Amino acid sequence: MPTQHDSFESFGFKPQILRGVTDAGFVTPSPIQSEAMPYILEGRDLIAQAQTGTGKTAAFGLPAMNRIEQTDRVEMLVITPTRELATQVSDELFKLGRFAGVKTVTVYGGQSSYRQVDLISRGAQVVVATPGRLLDLLSSGRLKNFEPTIVILDEADEMLDMGFLDDIKEIFKFLPKERQTLMFSATMPAPIKELAGRILRDPVSVKVTPAEETANKDIFQQYYVIEEHERDDAILRLFDAEEPSKSIIFTRTKKEAERLSTMLIAKGYGAKGLHGDMEQKSREEVIKGFKSNQLDILVATDVAARGLDVKDVSHVFNYHIPFDPESYVHRIGRTGRAGKKGIAVTLVTPLEYKELQRIKKIAGADIRQESVPTLGDVKKAHSGKLVSAVLNARLNDDAQRILTVLEEQIDVQQLALKALSLLIEKQNITGPDSIGVNPQRLEKLLNDHRRDRPSKRGGAKGGGYSKFKRNGGFGGGDRGGGGNYRGNRTRSRRDDR
Ligand code: ADP
Ligand code: MG
Repeated sequence: MPTQHDSFESFGFKPQILRGVTDAGFVTPSPIQSEAMPYILEGRDLIAQAQTGTGKTAAFGLPAMNRIEQTDRVEMLVITPTRELATQVSDELFKLGRFAGVKTVTVYGGQSSYRQVDLISRGAQVVVATPGRLLDLLSSGRLKNFEPTIVILDEADEMLDMGFLDDIKEIFKFLPKERQTLMFSATMPAPIKELAGRILRDPVSVKVTPAEETANKDIFQQYYVIEEHERDDAILRLFDAEEPSKSIIFTRTKKEAERLSTMLIAKGYGAKGLHGDMEQKSREEVIKGFKSNQLDILVATDVAARGLDVKDVSHVFNYHIPFDPESYVHRIGRTGRAGKKGIAVTLVTPLEYKELQRIKKIAGADIRQESVPTLGDVKKAHSGKLVSAVLNARLNDDAQRILTVLEEQIDVQQLALKALSLLIEKQNITGPDSIGVNPQRLEKLLNDHRRDRPSKRGGAKGGGYSKFKRNGGFGGGDRGGGGNYRGNRTRSRRDDR
C-alpha cells in the first residue's frame, strides 16, 4: 500500500517543481495524485483510473516533469483525444512546470504543422498531441530525433470512443522501446486493457473510485418532467427563474446545439454553440469567450465539452437526458468544481423517465424531482426584485430633467405606473403559464417507478482530502452494454488531423 501523502513536500520534488505547485495554489494532493506520483517518480509504468476532475494532469505532469533532464530534445509526450484537452493539458503543464523551465509544444490538426515542427525543433522537452496529427508527423518522418522517454496516454477510454485506437497502436511503433509509459483513464473497457497489455511494461495499477459516492456533493441535482415540445420553454423559464450566472447546456446533436444557441441569442442571451463541426479557431474563441465571462451560456455536445475545465459554472442543463451514466457524471461535473456549489438540471419526458431511473441507479446519483415554476411564480419573484431595485436605484441627473418635462404632461401616479411598466417589459418574462406534464400523469409516472427507486445509501464518507473535493465513480464498473453504440456515435468525428 502506498503511503498517504498529505502534502506535496513529501514526494521529494525539485524546488522549482514545488514552486509551480504552490504558485498554482495546490495545497493537498488529490487521492489519485498521492497514489500515482510515487510510482511515476520511481520510473514505473502505470495504469491510473480516476474520474474526471480528480487532478490527473498534475498526477502525471508533476512527477514526469520532475524526472526529465532539461535537454533540448523531446523527453515527454502526452497524447490526448481532443484539441481542447491538448490545450488544457499544456496550460496545466505550463502552469506547474514554468519555474523548472519546461517548454511545451502543443500539436494538433487545424493549425500549421510547419510551425509545430519548428517549435519542437527549437528545443521543447514536452509535446502534447492529438493522435491524428501526431501520427501524420511521425509517419511522414517530420519529427527528427523524436525519442520521448516518458509517454502518457491521457483519457484513454475517450480515445477508444473516438475511434483512435488503431492510430495509437500505430504511434507506438514510432516510439522508443526504452521508455516509461503511463495510461490515464476514467474507465477501463476491455480494448483499453488490451492496449495496456501491449504498450505498458509490468505496470502498477492505481484506481481511485471513492466508494459509495458518486457525483460531487456540491452539485445539487434536479430533474423536470416535461413534454417533448416543452424543452425550449422549460429552458427559458428556468433561466428566468434561476438566473444562472454561467451555464452549459448539453445537447445530443450538433444541429440541436446550433439551433438552441441561435434561439437563445434571439432571446437576448449571450450564448454560443460548441461542437465538432466548428472550425478549430471558432471553437477556441468560444471557449475563450466562455472562460472570460464574455459568454454566459455554452450550448455544447458531449464530445466538444469533454474535460473542459471552466471555473464558476453555476448551472449545467441537460436539454435531453444523456446517453449513459458516465456521460451524466461527466456533464454535471462541469459545475461544482473546486469546492463551489453547482446546480445540475435535467429535462426528461415521460418516455425518457426510465432512462433517468437507470442513470440514477448506476451512477448512484441523488437527483430530485422539481416542478418548472409557473409564469406567475417567476413574475412574482421578479417583481420582488424590481421593488428592491427601484428602492435602491441611484438618482440620475437626466431623470430629474426628464421628470420636469413629463410632469407638465402627465400626472405623477400615471407616470410612475408607466415607468414601472417599461421596466417590467424589459424583464421580458414570457412563455406558457405552466410547463411540464400534467400533475395526474406525473403522479402516475412517479408511482409506477417508485418500486425500483435506488435504495438509500448509508454512511458514505467523503475522501480524506478537504480542499480538493471531487466526483467519485459509479461503483467502479467498466462501460456496460451499448459500447458499440457510443463508438459509432462518436467515431465519425475524426477532426483532429
Ligand atoms: P482530470 O484530468 O482528472 O479531469 P484535471 O487535471 O483537469 O483533472 O484537474 C482539474 C482541476 O483541478 C484543474 O483546474 C487543476 O488545476 C485542479 N487541481 C489539480 N490538482 C489539484 C490539487 N491537488 N489541489 C487543487 N486543485 C487541483
Ligand atoms: Mg484530464
